[in-house]
Amino acid sequence: MTQDADILIAGGGLNGPALALALARNGFSVTVVDGRPAPQRAEPGFDGRAYALALASQRLLAALGLWDGLAPRAQPILRVVTSDGTTATGPSPFVLAFDHAEIEEGPMGYLLEDRFLYAAFLAAMEAEPRIRLISGATVEAQEVGASGVTITLSTGAHLSGRLLVGCDGRQSGTARRAGIRRTGWGYGQTALVAAIEHERPHEGTAWQYFLPSGPLAILPLPGNRSSIVWSESDAAAAEIQRLPDADYLTALRPRFGDFLGAISLAGERFTYPLSLSLAHSFVAPRVALVGDAAHGVHPIAGQGLNLGLRDVAALAEVLTLAARRGEDVGSPLVLDRYQQWRRFDATALALGMDMVNSLFSNDNPILRAGRDLGMGIVNAVPGLRRGFIRQAAGLTGDLPRLLQGRPI
Ligand SMILES: Cc1cc2nc3c(=O)[nH]c(=O)nc-3n(C[C@H](O)[C@H](O)[C@H](O)COP(=O)(O)OP(=O)(O)OC[C@H]3O[C@@H](n4cnc5c(N)ncnc54)[C@H](O)[C@@H]3O)c2cc1C
Repeated sequence: MTQDADILIAGGGLNGPALALALARNGFSVTVVDGRPAPQRAEPGFDGRAYALALASQRLLAALGLWDGLAPRAQPILRVVTSDGTTATGPSPFVLAFDHAEIEEGPMGYLLEDRFLYAAFLAAMEAEPRIRLISGATVEAQEVGASGVTITLSTGAHLSGRLLVGCDGRQSGTARRAGIRRTGWGYGQTALVAAIEHERPHEGTAWQYFLPSGPLAILPLPGNRSSIVWSESDAAAAEIQRLPDADYLTALRPRFGDFLGAISLAGERFTYPLSLSLAHSFVAPRVALVGDAAHGVHPIAGQGLNLGLRDVAALAEVLTLAARRGEDVGSPLVLDRYQQWRRFDATALALGMDMVNSLFSNDNPILRAGRDLGMGIVNAVPGLRRGFIRQAAGLTGDLPRLLQGRPI
């Protein structure tokens, strides 16, 4: 059977392009189908998120040849400070601080805005002759055969390949059509996201306040700017989002504190409803799931995309090594290696984030005392603290080569 491409990818958000590039650089032909027209997705106002990219994710972007162009847009994370607190009084004096100098690997990670990351992926895909990007069309059906898989697009076109990878987000149609079930729940929380300009420099510090209504992250961007990820109950977030800018800032100030001086808005305001969504399997015959399609997590520790890029690096390595051995890259044996590598790690982290969110998003005095004690212990033990820093930098576990910045 002649294939249109070796690998078909449904979804061209962030993990789809990263996987397409990792595979194309290793000799595969790849077709990416994305429902959203690429020029629209690349517009600066499309997505207000800034991603806290772990050091390992930065190494993957460097291995794919993207980092030199992105570096001037990225803010190194030199310190992470977490604190318990109340909405009325702001952060408590019990802080847990991690400094990049403790692991001697450079910054713990980088903050990068979506508008720069997606644009870099798009330019790299357009420049890569082995990648074909079809945007503005959706995958509507998939049919698996003995030697390949065929997909049908909303345009009526049919495409065939050896493997279909679902990078189509937490509502993944690829997973649903493959009969993969999901577990998940809404958090009843919505994240308010905006860029904030402040008077004083952040010095590369990322802050995470655990407030009873939900966590507030203040993440450093280049210049005197930070990106906030401010989680509130759905109803409160809807109310805050409806406020005019001045009142939005009035609601934010007591939570944000005044340690960075006067604050103002530095761009549009966005909201994201928060949920957990875990696929029961990351693979099915001639199908693999990557990124949010496999595991959509709470953004509490900024790990969602980092987890997805781990999938990307692992799947690219498994498929490349299999192809070099002459194996069929869509065979159950090959796909099972990917599932073995990624499923336990991703599911454990997703459930861990879920637990942290429920433990911290409340004002129970007993839990508060326990949390403060726990943070005090981690703070006091350097070995434990270094372990947390290496984990946050994505340097623990069985790391695929691309996450070590090495070619496959
Ligand atoms: C508020 C917030 C803050 C976050 N902060 C961080 C952070 O600091 N660090 C971090 O690592 N992660 C963070 N994340 C997580 C991160 O945003 C996600 O993990 C990541 O965007 C998922 O990318 P993806 O490519 O897997 O899925 P998506 O970005 O959801 O992309 C899916 C794509 O598939 C396309 N699609 C869907 N169905 C079809 C179809 N049938 N046919 C064709 N195309 C289809 C869609 O159009 C879309 O382009 C955050 C998340 C939130 C909500």
